[in-house]
Amino acid sequence: MPDLKCDVAVIGAGPAGSTTALTIARQGFDVLLVEKDDYPGKTNVCAGGTSQSIIKDLGLSPTLVEKEIRGGKHYFPWGLKSSNLRGITVYRNVFDRGLAEKAVEEGSKLLTRTMIKEVTIKSDRIQIKSKESSIDSKLVVFADGPHTLAHRRFGIGFEPRSDTTCISAVCEVRWEDNPLDQTEFYYGYEISPWGYGWIFPKRNTVNVGVGCLHSELNTNIIDSLNYLLRKHPLTHEKLKGKEIVWLRAALIPVAHAQKIFDERMLVVGDAAGMVDPVTGGGILHAINGGMLAGSIACDALEKDDCSARFLARYQQLWQRTPDFSFIYSKYLLSNLFLYLFKFDKSAYPKLAALTLGGIRQVMSTLKFIYLNK
Ligand SMILES: Cc1cc2nc3c(=O)[nH]c(=O)nc-3n(C[C@H](O)[C@H](O)[C@H](O)COP(=O)(O)OP(=O)(O)OC[C@H]3O[C@@H](n4cnc5c(N)ncnc54)[C@H](O)[C@@H]3O)c2cc1C
Repeated sequence: MPDLKCDVAVIGAGPAGSTTALTIARQGFDVLLVEKDDYPGKTNVCAGGTSQSIIKDLGLSPTLVEKEIRGGKHYFPWGLKSSNLRGITVYRNVFDRGLAEKAVEEGSKLLTRTMIKEVTIKSDRIQIKSKESSIDSKLVVFADGPHTLAHRRFGIGFEPRSDTTCISAVCEVRWEDNPLDQTEFYYGYEISPWGYGWIFPKRNTVNVGVGCLHSELNTNIIDSLNYLLRKHPLTHEKLKGKEIVWLRAALIPVAHAQKIFDERMLVVGDAAGMVDPVTGGGILHAINGGMLAGSIACDALEKDDCSARFLARYQQLWQRTPDFSFIYSKYLLSNLFLYLFKFDKSAYPKLAALTLGGIRQVMSTLKFIYLNK
């Protein structure tokens, strides 16, 4: 079993892990990014919609962009609403690989085909182990997604429960040179009691999926996806006869973690519940979280202090970011509407419509309602 040493070991080379490693490597520290798959993004399940800004902000190649998106169409039970929110779509097996390569270009090391199974705290270091290797470091960053070892082993990070996870089924459908350039969202009890269906266009495929809060799911999620693919009045004609390239199911965290640090440990991205609880979007939050985790790791190394007391600063600073305010406000609203759902079967579409223009619009709508009472 080869023994490796580094300043920081990052578990998971998704957007959160690679951004953390990139940030640490840029400061000249020795960082090792550890990924279970053959290459980053190989098995990632995602619709791939995100913000254009991340390409420029992280200095990534524009070739990672699959399609530019010029708005969204939201099909509510009461009618269509368009939004002009622009963005991009990416294939995660291309994007995650490109982001990890950027981290390597900046000095990070990448170890693939290495599934971490054990994490042990020693007096002056922390050790992570896979079947084949053992890695000693001063600090470990858990960026290993919603099934994080941080929670299973240490009780920190995201806790997967039926009321904190959305279960989703998603497939990539072949559609060469398709003309779509807007993301499409489909709401309604028959699609998903607490969630929505989507079509996100890429150049030669479209990503079709459905998500639902696990505790509110009243059927098999694959049946919901089949309904969207084969029966829904607005989508089935569009998708008729088209080949499904792959189909997978996965979890999305929809509640933030209570604690995201401990002695010699930080937790980031899905592993810390850094996801929009209404839309399930998490790529941008994972990247912003990764930048913060990376910079706190560098501070800890510079001061030679990886104690829980020092690392508590990470959670304090995260909770002051616009990302956290956005996630937390949507979490509170989501819980309020989940209560209303007991009396109103279209509570989720109403929540989605209310939050469509962002949290600022929600605040001004609530202010308007309050002042006009
Ligand atoms: C169906 C679906 C659709 C989505 N669509 C969107 C979307 O359109 N836009 C958006 O912004 N977000 C979307 N999301 C959410 C988004 O995918 C996540 O928020 C984002 O990937 C979080 O990044 P991450 O780096 O924290 O975790 P991940 O991307 O999950 O990366 C974790 C990495 O860790 C590796 N790993 C896990 N365990 C270990 C281990 N023990 N040892 C070594 N490596 C390990 C994994 O292989 C993986 O590479 C979607 C999610 C789902 C499920």
